Amino acid sequence: MRIARLLAVFFFLATSSTLLAATKAIKFGKLVDGTGRVFTNAVVIVEDDRVQRVTSGNASIPSGAEVIDLSRYTGIPGLIDAHTHMTYYWDGITTPRTELPRHPAVTVVLAQENARKALEAGVTTIRNLNAVDGTDLAMRDLINMGKMIGPRMFVSGLGVRITRSTAPPVPIGIMADGVDAVIHAVRQVIASGADWVKMYGSTGGFDDLTQFQTFTFEEMKAAVDATHALGKKIAIHSYGPSGARDAVRAGADSLEHATDMDDQTIAEMVKRKTYYAPTIDHNQYYVENADNVYRFPPGTKERLLGYIQRNFETAKKAFQAGVHIIVGSDAVYNGWGLNMRELDWLVKIGMTPAQALKAATTEPAAMLGMEKSLGAVAPGFYADIVAVEGDPLANISAVSNRDNVRWVMKAGLVVVDKTKGTGKTN
Ligand SMILES: [Zn+2]
Repeated sequence: MRIARLLAVFFFLATSSTLLAATKAIKFGKLVDGTGRVFTNAVVIVEDDRVQRVTSGNASIPSGAEVIDLSRYTGIPGLIDAHTHMTYYWDGITTPRTELPRHPAVTVVLAQENARKALEAGVTTIRNLNAVDGTDLAMRDLINMGKMIGPRMFVSGLGVRITRSTAPPVPIGIMADGVDAVIHAVRQVIASGADWVKMYGSTGGFDDLTQFQTFTFEEMKAAVDATHALGKKIAIHSYGPSGARDAVRAGADSLEHATDMDDQTIAEMVKRKTYYAPTIDHNQYYVENADNVYRFPPGTKERLLGYIQRNFETAKKAFQAGVHIIVGSDAVYNGWGLNMRELDWLVKIGMTPAQALKAATTEPAAMLGMEKSLGAVAPGFYADIVAVEGDPLANISAVSNRDNVRWVMKAGLVVVDKTKGTGKTN
C-alpha cells in the first residue's frame, strides 16, 4: 500500500515535470529577434510551441522551466526558404533526373533526408513549388502531425505548364493550354489541397537556360484570378523578361528567377508589392555539380555563369528600386543543406546583413500571410529559433554557412543540436 502510494507520488512528479518541461528558458549571448531589435544576454521563454516573452539581462526564469544555455551563440528566427523542391531526392549513385521512377510513398520516405538537411541549415519553413503524386502534400501533413521531422511546408502540388515535351523526363506538372484549361488546372491544384499555385511562365530550368515565354498574358491573368478567387496565392516562374513582365502585370504574388527584367516591370513590382525570389545561388550550385553530378553537356557551365551574372544584375536593380526580395534556394537533390547560401548573393547585390536576414524571415513570412506567427522571435510567434556561431549582423556567413548553425528549435521542439559536436555536417 505504502509502496503503491509512493509510486503514485513518483508518477505525479514524473508527469508534472514533463508538463513543466513544456516551459523552456533559452539563453543567448545575443538575440537578433527579426523585428529589428537586438538583445544582449537574451532570455527567450517558450511555452509549448510558442514564444511567450523575450527579455534580457537577469530576467526571472519561471520555476520548473527547462533552461537551455546557448549563451555562446547568437539567436535568430527560424529561417524561411521561399522556393524549394523537397521531393527531388537523389540517391547519390545515379545521375539526378534519370533515376527510375519511384512509388510516391518511397519518395516521401527518402525525401526526409532533404527535410533533415534543411533543418540543419536553420530552415524551419519552406514554400515548395512543384512536386508530383501529392508527395509534397503528404510530407506537409505528416510534418504537421508530428509524425515526420522537417520544416513547416507550404506547398503547390503540381506546377501548371503548357503542353511541351520535356526531355530528359523530370517531375512534370499539369499541362494546360488556353484560358479555360488553365482555370481548370488551377482549381484542380487547389482542390488537391495545395496552399499555393505554381505556374511555369517560361522555359528554363537545370541546364536549359532558354527564356521563352510559355503562357500568354491572358492565361496568366486567368490563373491569377482563379487562384485569388479561392483565397490562395500564385508563384510564377519565368527565366526571361517577357514572361516576368506578363506575370507581374497579371498580378502574380511572387515571381521566381526572372533575369533581364526591364525598368517598367521592376517599377510595377514595387507598386504591386510582388515578391521576387531571384534564386541566384541555384545556378552556382549547378556550376559546381555540372560535371560530376549532372553530366551536363560541354559549354553548360559557361552558359550558367553568364546567366548568373545577368540574374545578379537584375536582382541588384530590383533591390535598388525597392522590390521585396526573398530568399529562395530552388534546392534540389544534393543542393539540400545549401539553402541559405542565397544570403551571400543578397549581400553582394547591396543588402546589409540585417536586410538579407529579413529576406529569409519577415519578408517571406509576410508573403505567406504568416507575419503574425513566423519570421520573428517575439511573443505569440511560433518558437522557431536558430542558434548560430558568430554575429550575423557583422557577417552573414554566420547564417549562410550551414556549419555555423548549431542548434534549431521548431515550434518549441529541439530538432537539431550540434552544441556539443563539431558542428560539421556530411
Ligand atoms: Zn524551382
